[in-house]
Amino acid sequence: MKKFDVVVIGAGPGGYVAAIRAAQLGLSTACIEGWQNPEGKAALGGTCLNVGCIPSKALLDSSHHYAFIKTEAAEHGIHSQGATLDVNRMIGRKDRVVQTLTQGIAGLFRKHNVEWLQGWGTLAPENRIEVTPVGDGAGEPYLVEAGHVIIATGSVPARIPPAPVDDVQIVDSTGALAFRDVPRRLGIIGAGVIGLELGSVWARLGSSVVILEALDEFLAPVDRQIATEAEKILRKQGLDIRLGARVTGTASNNREVTVSYETPEGKQQLVVDKLIVAVGRRPNTSRLGADRVDLKLDERGFIAVDEHCLTNLPNVYAIGDVVRGPMLAHKASEEGVAVAERIASGAGHVGYATIPWVIYTWPEIAWVGRTEQELKSEGVEYTTGVFPFAASGRARAAGGTAGMIKMLADAGSDRVLGVHILGPNASELIAEAVLLMQFDGTAEDLALTVHAHPTLSEAMHEAALGVAGRMLHF
Ligand code: FAD
Ligand code: AMP
Repeated sequence: MKKFDVVVIGAGPGGYVAAIRAAQLGLSTACIEGWQNPEGKAALGGTCLNVGCIPSKALLDSSHHYAFIKTEAAEHGIHSQGATLDVNRMIGRKDRVVQTLTQGIAGLFRKHNVEWLQGWGTLAPENRIEVTPVGDGAGEPYLVEAGHVIIATGSVPARIPPAPVDDVQIVDSTGALAFRDVPRRLGIIGAGVIGLELGSVWARLGSSVVILEALDEFLAPVDRQIATEAEKILRKQGLDIRLGARVTGTASNNREVTVSYETPEGKQQLVVDKLIVAVGRRPNTSRLGADRVDLKLDERGFIAVDEHCLTNLPNVYAIGDVVRGPMLAHKASEEGVAVAERIASGAGHVGYATIPWVIYTWPEIAWVGRTEQELKSEGVEYTTGVFPFAASGRARAAGGTAGMIKMLADAGSDRVLGVHILGPNASELIAEAVLLMQFDGTAEDLALTVHAHPTLSEAMHEAALGVAGRMLHF
């Protein structure tokens, strides 16, 4: 039986990063992964690279270019009559981006001497793991022994009984990344991150999109001022967002899907060509054999871990989407690094308080730290600086003036408690706020920092000036 210092189960952004870091630290490391791509080839990268972050961003970028040509190019003096759309080519490009990146991880494994065990891992007693190989000519299951185990089995799309996925007309996020035609009428259940991103892609490409959201509030976890403005902009882009709409049933024939839902006004129906179920994700422990070794799960099915990602079993850790906390790729990776370092040296750290969130609509939405409504409910005294992109020279030159940057700082110490962005390139701009908060910085620290002109980052500078009531350009 082969023995490794560390065996990682799952090669998403949690698992593959943990494996690389463990190997860098001199630990003999294997990573078990059974994912097969649509061509039946074994693939690393998990949800994020295969059917999540990367393919969704490839389609968001492609559709953004298309929408620019259709709706904005003329304003720049660029006439583009006759521009046409080749959805198959767009999807093909997305698939090549995915293939390049997943193959890149296989290269990184070779470089760092991480052994990829192709198959599904099931926990067995005494820190052993049974590997069931997959694919053509897969061999018999075999056991490996691990000094330490890192479980990184991720998550899968959540299902709801009223909308069973048939992978033809009713799809989950994976299916919605592979449509070969633009659906004329597209329904989406769930106005969360995934629903809004996929809705944006297909609306830009020409679908008439209706999003049904059970909650009354749009983007409940987001700062209210940002969410309210974002809702207005997205509605103006054509997303028909229906709040307080709880889906109760679906009926499909070969041509269309009838969705039944309830609002405070009563029972309603919606007829669409395709329906995307985007109601969140649930932890994936299906092949893990948690019962066989008494691995403890919490009441929602996540693997129960302490603040160091240690499970109830000695030397068995769990990270990423399969444990508590935000279901984000960078959170999974940071936990992977911290656990590898803890195994090698006894210490590892994740900056949970400063994990950035991004929603890749356009304009993008990004934030770190606490929202204004959270500060209010906690009774924290705070000051606010809000700078609109309409007053940014660079945003105006580029033609993206919607949105704002909002900074919240402690009224007494000036320490920054939260930064919220709705605007162009918010996903990149938020990094500066994360760094500031990671160093316990104040709004004044940022106000004293020189920002290049003309850049979108000047809006962050102005928001920091705004905390002290001394914005220069607004
Ligand atoms: P996963 O990426 O889910 O990987 C788990 C891996 O474990 C899988 O490859 C699976 O095959 C494997 N596995 C499971 N069980 C076993 C077993 N028993 N044996 C061996 N292998 C096993 N997050 C962001 O931060 N930014 C984004 O822009 C973003 N966009 C997204 C868009 C979409 C459409 C979706 C669906 C998700 C998106 N996410 C995004 C979320 C992100 O994909 C996840 O947070 C991230 O992938 C979690 O990483 P992970 O390593 O915990 O799990
Ligand atoms: P997220 O967790 O960000 O992916 O968002 C999923 C969204 O789906 C949440 O806002 C839920 O309120 C919403 N949702 C869940 N179930 C239903 C349902 N039956 N009908 C409409 N919306 C739903």
